Amino acid sequence: MTPKPPPSGRPLLAPRLAAFGTTVFAEMSALAARTGAINLGQGFPDTDGPEEVREAAVRAIREGRGNQYPPGPGIPELREAVAAHQHRFHGITLDPGTEVLVTAGATEAIAATLLALVEPGDEVIAFEPYYDSYAAGIALAGGHRVPLTLRAPGFRPDLDRLAALITPRTRLLLLNSPHNPTGMVLTREEATEIARLAVAHDLLVVTDEVYEHLVYEGEHLPLATFPGMRERTVSISSSGKTFSLTGWKVGWVTGSAALVSAVRTVKQYLTFVSAGPFQYAVAEALRLPDAYFDDFREDLRRKRDLLCDGLAEAGFAVHRPQGTYFVTTDITPLGLGDDGTKFCLALPERCGVVAVPNAVFYDDPDAGRPLVRFAFCKREDVLREAVDRLKRLAQ
Ligand SMILES: *Cc1c(COP(=O)(O)O)cnc(C)c1O
Repeated sequence: MTPKPPPSGRPLLAPRLAAFGTTVFAEMSALAARTGAINLGQGFPDTDGPEEVREAAVRAIREGRGNQYPPGPGIPELREAVAAHQHRFHGITLDPGTEVLVTAGATEAIAATLLALVEPGDEVIAFEPYYDSYAAGIALAGGHRVPLTLRAPGFRPDLDRLAALITPRTRLLLLNSPHNPTGMVLTREEATEIARLAVAHDLLVVTDEVYEHLVYEGEHLPLATFPGMRERTVSISSSGKTFSLTGWKVGWVTGSAALVSAVRTVKQYLTFVSAGPFQYAVAEALRLPDAYFDDFREDLRRKRDLLCDGLAEAGFAVHRPQGTYFVTTDITPLGLGDDGTKFCLALPERCGVVAVPNAVFYDDPDAGRPLVRFAFCKREDVLREAVDRLKRLAQ
């Protein structure tokens, strides 16, 4: 709801934020709650992460670790665990003292990074469809967003187009791979070319890598590892998706000491610190053996295949994702029109399932008009039931 203007006539909400009302996820989750539909809209798992990690949080609280303000950059144990994780999986060497910052989830990391690096009027190029906090974060910083639209089928970034979008006002590239909502994972060739452009134009790069452990085809290639990128890349990740603990909101920023220090400057005035006891538990989670990460990915791969096959049988055109836990579909072949937003609003009543219209992730809603996103981070019996319900659409 738009707040009523006070008598002065000036709107309450700053005009630069006027476009950002209630997020679609809150709206769709409320619809799911009201209708009792299966919620494949918002991307949260329906089983909690590893018991030993949850127990570690309980232990930390009981033992009085993290119940008072932890250190601003994050507790040393977690910063060391993040650095060790970056080295184990990506070969990146970081100084936990100066090159790691703990944040309130990836969301705060993104906002703090944009506020730290973007001046009003700066241009920020980002893949469209966007994860919803990007547009809002760029607007908070007073930046101007410039979309590089990923198009079906394949959703590959058009890198000639990227080169053409760069201007003297371009400050940074805000990139996400594996990409939510399309499931696109950058290839080595694409990452190499993006890095080349960033270096050639002296751009900063912010990479959102929260799905780094959910790659089914190809491999996760952190842009910070490409030539000339370490000193210009802010890498962002989080424990929420990797450990199925999205409510804990423990994320992190890694990069050069200069970049991390800039982000820390803003972070200290947003939340100062966060999630004390959870930081101890996430430090343990990051040190889980490789088997945890492999099993997690293979479990989600099975769920991807289950849902994608079911959606195809139900009559959707399925864009099988290479990564993340979302699948984008095209509803056109169902014969129910091509308006994904209308389709999603009617879906809970029609067959008891909630999904998200991809149109909300685009500046130009027509660009994503027939596309609808489903999350598959749910129990297999829930996915099977959802597929059975969706098969009624074609009948
Ligand atoms: C879920 C998600 C986030 C937010 O992560 P939190 O740690 O919960 O703040 C950021 N980026 C993308 C692409 C996501 O899907």
